[in-house]
Amino acid sequence: MRSKNCVLPSYWPDIDQSIQCWICWYFLESVSARVSLKTNKKISYIESNINVARRLSEEKDFDVIVVGGGPGGLNTAIMCATRHLKVLLLERDKIGGLLATLYPNKIIPNYPGFPQGIVAIELVRNWLQHLRFTGVTVKQEAVSDVAKDLTVTTEKKNYRSKVVVIATGTKPRRLKIPNESEFSKEDKGVYYFPSHPEEFLGSKVLVVGGGDTAIDAVLELLNLADEITLVHRREGFRAFDENVEKIRKSGMVNFVLNGEVLAIKGRKRVEKAVIRQEGRKLEKIVDSVVIAIGIVPNSEVYKKLGVKTDEHGFILTDRAQRTNIKGIFALGDVTKVGLRLITVAAAHGAIASHYIYSYVKKPYWARESLDTQI
Ligand code: NDP
Repeated sequence: MRSKNCVLPSYWPDIDQSIQCWICWYFLESVSARVSLKTNKKISYIESNINVARRLSEEKDFDVIVVGGGPGGLNTAIMCATRHLKVLLLERDKIGGLLATLYPNKIIPNYPGFPQGIVAIELVRNWLQHLRFTGVTVKQEAVSDVAKDLTVTTEKKNYRSKVVVIATGTKPRRLKIPNESEFSKEDKGVYYFPSHPEEFLGSKVLVVGGGDTAIDAVLELLNLADEITLVHRREGFRAFDENVEKIRKSGMVNFVLNGEVLAIKGRKRVEKAVIRQEGRKLEKIVDSVVIAIGIVPNSEVYKKLGVKTDEHGFILTDRAQRTNIKGIFALGDVTKVGLRLITVAAAHGAIASHYIYSYVKKPYWARESLDTQI
């Protein structure tokens, strides 16, 4: 329950301000009984709690620094904080990761407990509330370097920690065709997911790819776009069969199989796509192009440090989510994992937090080796 004194909005776009706000709220809530007894002391209580909140947010030493605020990072932070570890969560963009930036309006069909599915941004809201209750310090800062002694450098300052958790996720792979880069900025018609599907109402859209992201993109656009063309470089699809069937049955999608998109054309924004199919080239008039051809891991900073990855840059971990470097864990989509799902990333967070607790607190029952298996 939120205190009447709290000025916190239901959803916080600015993490830095909000974190100070909710830490204040936490302290105010915990002393509210005493505060209500002596109204004349209320102001000084509030002032002192604001100071405590400021001091906490200024601290530099943590038990655990989690880099990345997607499902895996959030669950790690929540579960570590629940076990009374001092946790800092660093996120360079929006809490929720791709769910907040790329898919805010997507209905997540397979998160347990929501039989009708849940809109991504609603899930993120719930996680934020959970985060608030556990006392995690959250900062909107981008990590530029991590040293072997686990000093974490952001554009604002250095932090020190006993454990660093890499939960930096992935970003959409670029097709690297003419005009892609230019038209992907400032709403000029190239997207990596239809984040706001209503904006495609009545338009002609070309989707590229054959995985779950591409098929989900088409599903988002059904009944909204006037014309949907799906270009995929082979006949079979990686995506869930039932979803491929759904779009086939809709009769609303024009399939270009064994095809590739060679270029995007337009004066100020997307006007046409150049497609090649079985040796034939054609120019198709479209309003937008959604490129959904896979993901690349956000692991550059950690590769520099010597964290082992596979040939694509996905981080290798053992079954405790430990990397080859002592004290550094990795989880979720940035790791080499068999299945990329929200539930899998969240489960990684649960596993990691258990081993992080053992590593930091060294309880008598932690008999298992604390050394990494990589
Ligand atoms: P995937 O790697 O699964 O699929 C990428 C698709 O793009 C493949 O069909 C691939 O073709 C094609 N492709 C790759 N490179 C090129 C290229 N240069 N030119 C043309 N086509 C290309 O990526 P997704 O983003 O779809 O999914 C990423 C992960 O996230 C997957 O594990 C997926 O299952 C998961 N996911 C799960 C969802 C869910 O549970 N609902 C939703 C979205 C994603 P080819 O097949 O020939 O390699």
